[in-house]
Amino acid sequence: MRSILELPKAHLHLHFAGSMRHGTLLELANRDGIALPAALTEDWPPTLSTADEKGWFRFQRLYDVGRSVLNTEDDVRRLVREAAEDDREDGSVWTEMQVDPSGYAAKFGGITSFMELVLDAVAEAKRATGLDMSIVIAANRIRHPLDARTLARLAAKFAGRGVHAFGLSNDERRGDTEDFAAAFAIAERAGLKLVPHGGELRGPAHIRTVLDHLHPQRLGHGVRVAEDPELLQRVVESGVALEVCPASNVSLGVYASINEVPVRALKSAGAKVALGSDDPLLFGTRLAGQYALLRAAQDFTDVELADLARDSIDVSYAPDAIKIRALREIDAWLSLPEN
Ligand SMILES: [Zn+2]
Repeated sequence: MRSILELPKAHLHLHFAGSMRHGTLLELANRDGIALPAALTEDWPPTLSTADEKGWFRFQRLYDVGRSVLNTEDDVRRLVREAAEDDREDGSVWTEMQVDPSGYAAKFGGITSFMELVLDAVAEAKRATGLDMSIVIAANRIRHPLDARTLARLAAKFAGRGVHAFGLSNDERRGDTEDFAAAFAIAERAGLKLVPHGGELRGPAHIRTVLDHLHPQRLGHGVRVAEDPELLQRVVESGVALEVCPASNVSLGVYASINEVPVRALKSAGAKVALGSDDPLLFGTRLAGQYALLRAAQDFTDVELADLARDSIDVSYAPDAIKIRALREIDAWLSLPEN
């Protein structure tokens, strides 16, 4: 078997605090005297399961605990650098990280100065690791749509300066997607790519709403488009790519097991699928782990894994030079002996 770590790939679905190493969480919490719940200590990684509201609240509470240990500029720099180190080790040649600056504004002097810090940390991480990264500013659908507009304007301000896209995250069952159309229009006018979450906790009807009102180029998750062949065809024909996160889907109860994550069905319909880890801090597996899970649970062949890696590169917003080199290296990986 060829090494998945050595397969070049892009990481397109990774949240800021959720990318934290578990060891770093423990260390920072200890430093600041923050008591961690058992789910983040002896019972880590947590069992979240059930796609009901309770499961999501539990996830959100743990995510907030993760965020609460980031208290200094050095913490932010360390988080980004370690995420880059880990992605590099997992074979990423390009990582797009989602940040919702709202939760950090109070601690770091406002959303603009927090974004400046994050972008500086990204540049520093690149110098340290060689990994190229870019930032998605993501609004939170459980906050007021006017907050999303503020973040869209912030993203527009940083467009082309380390921020390339605008997203929408948090509990898909809350908030009205239509209400976020104005924020997405601001981002669209600024030339940003649009990558909202959709089709994870809700099914095809909501994916239609997201397509109609937010005009995404990629869907965060989007995996439940598999439930509706006609919609899947629309997604394929319009070139909307899917950021599929198998470990996250199973942890949050979207599917009972990795066996049920319909990556093969999406692929055979012609969809572009980029695997992502979502929140390694809460789901316990990183980027390469997603490929390994499909190999282990669904017998994905190296040809299929290479095809997923190719998709991740194709639908990324990496510069052409990175894409061309990565695609060539994926072919080289496939031509290695199988061992
Ligand atoms: Zn996500």
